[in-house]
Amino acid sequence: MKKLATFCMITILAVITATAAMAGDTLADAKKKGVLVVGCKDSLPPFGYIDEKSRQIVGYDIDFVNAIAQKMGVKVELKPVTSASRMPQLQEGHIDIIAATMTKNAERAKVIDFSHTYFFTGQKFITKKGSVKSLKDLEGKRIGTAKGSTSEQNVKKAIPSATVLSFDDYPQAFLALQQGKVAAVTTDEAILAGILAKAPNKTQFEIPGLQISDEPYGLGMRKGDTKFVAFVNKTILDMEKSGEAAKIFEKWFGPNTQFHLQRNFKIAADK
Ligand code: GLU
Repeated sequence: MKKLATFCMITILAVITATAAMAGDTLADAKKKGVLVVGCKDSLPPFGYIDEKSRQIVGYDIDFVNAIAQKMGVKVELKPVTSASRMPQLQEGHIDIIAATMTKNAERAKVIDFSHTYFFTGQKFITKKGSVKSLKDLEGKRIGTAKGSTSEQNVKKAIPSATVLSFDDYPQAFLALQQGKVAAVTTDEAILAGILAKAPNKTQFEIPGLQISDEPYGLGMRKGDTKFVAFVNKTILDMEKSGEAAKIFEKWFGPNTQFHLQRNFKIAADK
């Protein structure tokens, strides 16, 4: 009997150890390799986009992971992801962390772990100027967004009669709007503002004051990667305390940018 109990204990311990190994320890592994591999957007100013002069991916999301990697003493390797590919890329180990305009929600948190919220926005629409005054004006219309996004799910719920066209990314959805193939593009307001700022014919479009959701962004990490999650959370809380987080916000959204957004959040521990 005693032998059986010991055998059971050993088996249970082995299973626990194997599970922990599967989740991995990104903090230790990345330090060993000297590099943190980051999944980011590469066409969404000002979160992650290619700077015309340097040809490097830069942005709000990138500054956060740069600060985290610096604290770890490792280099950053940036790998572009789409809204649909970012979670599989993380789970399959192709990237170590997602810093890609990603909303935290309960459904996603079943699959991956999130940091505390490091950006806060809400879902709106870009439309032809004057064409949309209320959600009613979008009923039965074609609306463009990105595959695998919360935007796609939210708009289907908010306007069930609309036909939702899901593209690989938002610039493609905006192209469809410019070509008159959709009546609106929907996603987070901060992303829409970035798209509009870069559009050559921006005066023809607007972002009406119609918000259909709140979108808190989190950095995504593998489920059970607890030491790394704790490290990332401590780092971004410290960045809030030191003022570095607010400085990054000002750099990308402040009065010297095209956006002039107010910082309507503070990085704080999740309740
Ligand atoms: N924040 C939303 C999401 O995570 C929309 C932006 C995106 O697709 O990255 O789905």
